[in-house]
Amino acid sequence: MKVGVLALQGASASHRSMLARLGAEAVAVRTEADLAGVDALVIPGGESTTISMLLASSGLFDPLAARLDDGLPVFGTCAGMILLATEVLDGRDDQRWFGAIDTAVRRNAYGRQVDSFEADLPVTGMDGPPFPAVFIRAPVVERVGPGVTVLATVDDRPVLCRQGNVLVSAFHPELSDDPRLHALFLEEVM
Ligand code: GLN
Repeated sequence: MKVGVLALQGASASHRSMLARLGAEAVAVRTEADLAGVDALVIPGGESTTISMLLASSGLFDPLAARLDDGLPVFGTCAGMILLATEVLDGRDDQRWFGAIDTAVRRNAYGRQVDSFEADLPVTGMDGPPFPAVFIRAPVVERVGPGVTVLATVDDRPVLCRQGNVLVSAFHPELSDDPRLHALFLEEVM
């Protein structure tokens, strides 16, 4: 199984090393041909408005939307979570997103004083200690639809959600030295 990591902008390399550490073949996805060769995809953190723009200019937006419609397993982290939501609040007018998981997310909504923080996160179904989650100008999930399972929360707000083949986190799991969430993606979502 080949796992792609969208590499237009943002935290792509650390996702690839985490996936490789778990024995997956991890490749950067920058073109339609790259996308055609992968069995699953990670959409990393970064800047969702920039990634949206680069998806359009690289011609990747529509092919990726089609793969997602076909059920491509995908893990969206932070900006990736924003790009996969059905509703984006406080987005830029020209920003586009995929609507692959029934959530409404508000960009940068944790507020300035807590732009970045860490939280020890109990995750439903995960053995061992809580997951050390790093949040960087993270989106807040303001609504989840009935088909969405919330796997972790911070202050009663969902921060890790799943709907079918779509897994999203408001935080950056590739920045913690802990491969359990990538393993969950490879073993359960794919
Ligand atoms: N604030 C960014 C956005 O709106 C997301 C931040 C991140 O991915 N770390 O896209």
